[in-house]
Amino acid sequence: MTSPTVENVVIIGTGCAGLTAAIYTARASLNPLVIEGPLPGGQLTTTSEVENFPGFPHGVDGYQLTQNMREQATRFGTRFEQALVDQVDFTSMPRKLVCGDRVILARSVIIATGASPRMTGVPGEKELYGGKGVTTCATCDGAFYRKMEVAVIGGGDSAAEEALFLTRFASKVYLIHRRDSLRASKIMSDRATSHEKIQMVWDTVPVEVQGVAEGAVTGLKLKNLKTNAESVLPVKGIFVAIGHVPNTGPFAPPLDVDEGGYFKPQPGSQVRTNIPGVYVAGDCSDHIFRQAITAAGMGCQAAIEAERWLAEHEG
Ligand code: NAP
Repeated sequence: MTSPTVENVVIIGTGCAGLTAAIYTARASLNPLVIEGPLPGGQLTTTSEVENFPGFPHGVDGYQLTQNMREQATRFGTRFEQALVDQVDFTSMPRKLVCGDRVILARSVIIATGASPRMTGVPGEKELYGGKGVTTCATCDGAFYRKMEVAVIGGGDSAAEEALFLTRFASKVYLIHRRDSLRASKIMSDRATSHEKIQMVWDTVPVEVQGVAEGAVTGLKLKNLKTNAESVLPVKGIFVAIGHVPNTGPFAPPLDVDEGGYFKPQPGSQVRTNIPGVYVAGDCSDHIFRQAITAAGMGCQAAIEAERWLAEHEG
């Protein structure tokens, strides 16, 4: 009987962190296997222009950037497989990853599963999500709202960016924020608040997405937190941009997480976990920076750590 293949390193996730880890481990001749989840390329694929990734003085399309990284990883021998890891066993060596009927054995693992958009949870949001008017991606869906009024919920850089992008299509963009000042960086705040098509709606939260009976968004019911007054915006599109929730799935436990649910690396390291030979990288463990370049940096660190760990624990 042939014994099952044991991979040197399995990388879970194909965002900036996972693909950078793949480039480094592939160049180190570790023949990495990358498990590709439900959003190949990660969150960058839902961004339009990336203006702050070094090396692109005129910006680069987010999707193109991840495609380039993937091509670079493939060039050095990275293998990709579409699967969803639904169970892990890190109690013995090799480490065990269960994807449905398939079990993957690995000497080291790099988890770069990213984060998913947080939703408001108000009635109607879930029912009308995806193709019915509620979305989390202006780049993907903005063009459907040509000459229509839309709402963006949130006050961070994502909300400002989504609102600005939507001005290309929508007749008017309401930016709804629960406080009276944006969390977004000054440059993004200034751009959003001064845009003629963007109307700020301060101190306000959504209470209901209307249109469930019609099967499409017909309006957004709001509540002003200072006056308790309720109102309805007659929007057709609602873009939720209130941050993200880390995708720690079947890995926590056994991996430690912090109070926000993000993977918690060992003291003195950004990527080492409480399980030897298992590393984390990118937005699944970073709630502070959450940038493409920092995710790539963590992917690089995880790859180098895995390479050293494998060299020290041969066989
Ligand atoms: P974020 O900075 O965490 O902002 C989330 C926003 O949503 C906050 O304004 C928050 O309100 C609001 N919020 C959270 N939960 C809410 C709820 N249940 N109901 C209503 N509002 C809620 O998230 P982000 O905007 O996605 O940005 C994440 C990181 O990526 C940041 O570091 C950001 O700088 C970076 N980023 C950068 C760029 C860029 O440079 N172009 C673009 C996108 C993102 P409060 O302010 O009251 O907490």
